[in-house]
Amino acid sequence: MSSWAELEQACKECTACGLCQGRTNVVFGVGKKDADVLFIGEGPGEQEDLQGEPFVGPAGKLLDDMLSIIDLDRSKVYIANIVKCRPPHNRDPEEEEQEACIGYLRKQVALIQPKIIVCLGRIAAKKILYPEYRITKEHGSWVCRNGIWMTAIYHPSALLRDLSKRPETFEDLLGIRDKIQYVKANVD
Ligand code: SF4
Repeated sequence: MSSWAELEQACKECTACGLCQGRTNVVFGVGKKDADVLFIGEGPGEQEDLQGEPFVGPAGKLLDDMLSIIDLDRSKVYIANIVKCRPPHNRDPEEEEQEACIGYLRKQVALIQPKIIVCLGRIAAKKILYPEYRITKEHGSWVCRNGIWMTAIYHPSALLRDLSKRPETFEDLLGIRDKIQYVKANVD
C-alpha cells in the first residue's frame, strides 16, 4: 500500500475489529500530509464519529487553542488517532482493537515522515512510547526513536475536566515549540 488514497480507502472499508460495527464514520486523520509534527490521540468520540474528523467539539476547540499558543494550527500539523473508529460510550480502546488498527497509523507515519510526534493522553503515550508510561509523572519528557522526537502531554479532554493540569501543559507546549525550533535548526 503506497499512497494516501489507497491507505484511506482501505481504512474506510476496514472491518478488522469490532469497532466497525458501531461507527458512523471512520476517522482517518486530518492535516498536512508532510507535517513536521504529528499529534496522536486515542480514538474518536461522539462528535468525531459523526463528523468524520478528529478532535472536534470542546476538546477539539481546546486543542486548537493549545496549537495557537505555539504558533501552530491544523493546516501545519497532522492529527490522527490510535483507533480510527469510535469505541462505544467513549470507553478506552481495548488492546486488541489498538493492535488491529495500529498498522494504519504506522503507514501514516511512514507517509508523513514527521520529525516530532506528540501523544495526546495516556492511551496514546502507552501505545506509542512504552507500556509503562505514566502520563502524570512523565508528560513533557522526550525520547528520540529512529530519528523522531517523541513526547506526550495531557489529553485536551483531561484538561477540560481538571483545570489544575493546565499550567503544566503550558510548559509542555513551550517544550514542543522549543523542540520544533531545535529540529528546524538542525535540518536547515
Ligand atoms: S478501529 Fe481500526 S481496525 Fe477497527 S474496524 Fe476501525 S479502522 Fe478497522
